[in-house]
This record gives sequence, C-alpha cells and structure tokens, in this order.
Amino acid sequence: MNDALAKPVAVPSALSGPYWEGIAAGQLMLQCCAACGHYRHYPRLLCDRCYSDAVDWIAASRRGRIHSWTVAHHPYHPAFVSEVPYTLVVVDLEEGPRALGRWQGDTPCIGLAVHGEFVAREGGADLVFSRAG
Ligand SMILES: [Zn+2]
Repeated sequence: MNDALAKPVAVPSALSGPYWEGIAAGQLMLQCCAACGHYRHYPRLLCDRCYSDAVDWIAASRRGRIHSWTVAHHPYHPAFVSEVPYTLVVVDLEEGPRALGRWQGDTPCIGLAVHGEFVAREGGADLVFSRAG
C-alpha cells in the first residue's frame, strides 16, 4: 500500500494552456502583449500596461537575478512534508516579469545572476534556479 500523498497537479485552462505546454517541453513561456510588447507572468487575459487582449507567447531565457529568497520550513501541502526545508527564490527575469522557483546551490544572495531549468517530477515539473554559469 502506498501511503504517500500525491502532489497537486495543475489543470490547464484555455488561457494558461501554452504556459503548461511550455513546461512540458522544458520552456518557460511568457505572454508578450502584441500591442505594446510588455511581458507578463503568470498568464492573464489582459495586458496590465495597455489592457489589450492581443498576445504572443515567447519562450523566456530563464535567466535573471534573484529578487528575494526564503527557506520553506513548513510544507504548504502534506505531499511536500519529506522535502522541507527547501529554498525558494523570486527571480527578476531578463524579460521583466518575476518568476518563483526552487533553488539549487549554496546560500543564495539578492542580485545573483541565475539560470532556471525544469526538473521533472510526478505530475509535472519544478522550475529550479541555480547560479548562472
Ligand atoms: Zn500591452
């Protein structure tokens, strides 16, 4: 008998479908406003700069700099109990939006140049950032 709890799995919508398809292909897909060129993340119906609903999907570089970080000592879901503590980073992507991901490496510092990769797990993938090489 397997007593392990399953991790939550995303349910893509028509709006977020390209985002999740990108993750399955190892890409971080960002919406880019077709009217003004403003990037946004997570997927939204309207551009938060010009309110246009015209959008292109662009594969992000997954490069950026650490904006903030924290160590999670309490799991937000029981399926993650065995993984705490783990470090989370908020990264200012080169394209402009911020992305949240796991951290792999020594103690992070704000402003550090990083690069993200998707690491497959049951039911999806985690965006894992590490020091840029
Ligand atoms: Zn716009």
